[in-house]
Amino acid sequence: MNADSSRSLYDLKFAEIQALLKEWGEPVFRAKQIWEWLYVQLAASYDAMTNLPKPLRDRLGAAHPLGRLTPRIDLLSSDGWTRKILFALPDRAQIETVLMEYDTRNTVCASTQAGCAMGCTFCATGQGGFQRNLTSGEIVEQVLFFERELRLTNPQSPTTNHQVTNVVLMGMGEPFANYTALLDALKRLSDPIGYNFGARRITVSTVGLVPMIERFTQERSQVNLAVSLHAATNELRASMLPINRRYPLEVLIPACRAYTEITRRRISFEWAMIEGVNDTPAQARALAQLIKGLLCHVNLIPLNPTHGYGGAASTRERIAAFRATLDEARLPNSLRVRRGIDIHAGCGQLRQVANRER
Ligand code: SAH
Ligand code: SF4
Repeated sequence: MNADSSRSLYDLKFAEIQALLKEWGEPVFRAKQIWEWLYVQLAASYDAMTNLPKPLRDRLGAAHPLGRLTPRIDLLSSDGWTRKILFALPDRAQIETVLMEYDTRNTVCASTQAGCAMGCTFCATGQGGFQRNLTSGEIVEQVLFFERELRLTNPQSPTTNHQVTNVVLMGMGEPFANYTALLDALKRLSDPIGYNFGARRITVSTVGLVPMIERFTQERSQVNLAVSLHAATNELRASMLPINRRYPLEVLIPACRAYTEITRRRISFEWAMIEGVNDTPAQARALAQLIKGLLCHVNLIPLNPTHGYGGAASTRERIAAFRATLDEARLPNSLRVRRGIDIHAGCGQLRQVANRER
């Protein structure tokens, strides 16, 4: 394997580290040591890997940087429960990662792309356009960053206990448009000899790339699937999510249904509540009709206002009326509490603001 400094150590699979060591004439057991430094001890530097000979650490460091994320902006919400980091990547692309702390949970919301090409009108990431796919290592590193930070604040907890309890791929980007890196990252996060994070505690959210939903169904993964629905008629959905022109509801919903039938897993439908747009009684009824009998849960999220979109979040009354229609149709639903509005914690919003203020 050639030295390839564009890939960080987090980008390498276990077998690739083994191959690298073999090529360098190093004992292969070192691969396990390196893996443990990366994913069990969460070493923040090569210097911390004290059971590796210094020349090997130097050689590894010259061939592969340990990580590629540099925190640029670090914000804590006024209530102290939401922390958002804007990371710079070596090519100056930027991504956002959010940590949401709850009483018993710590959820990391990670990005899968720098920017996004899907152009959803109400989304700050979509408004900013697409830069590039993240590598698997860049996805994994976001989670490990917060795991490390949380361990520092709770030093007495054993390293075998995860401080991060949930991971959602709902940051910047469309995960299924970066499918290979996404799957590599998911695999690495749940590797039993590494970070060993439970796949059932991970959720991937897609805008509705039907062929990828079909492919994901075949993976038989324990990772949860969420689909951004937001509208129950093609005309409205296409006006908000341009991808609906390519994969309209009549192909999207059957793909979701097949997913639940084949995997026997519940799907989550996300619905940003936008005043007067998709919070009408007619949309609620259309939604109930559309997903009748499908093993699912509807997640309602009041819109986070963004610079490039004029809509407002639905009022409490309208949300209550919408939910009443879903309840009547016996559709499980919940209202997600908005977190970190004061730190622009919505998808892609911090980068939008940071670039505006520069
Ligand atoms: N690209 C994927 C995952 C990232 S977006 C997807 O679209 O599903 C994560 C969720 O946030 C999606 O449901 C998305 O529609 C929603 N979202 C984006 N911008 C929003 C905003 N301004 N207010 C509320 N939800 C938003
Ligand atoms: Fe991309 Fe998701 Fe934003 Fe749409 S909502 S632009 S798919 S990140």
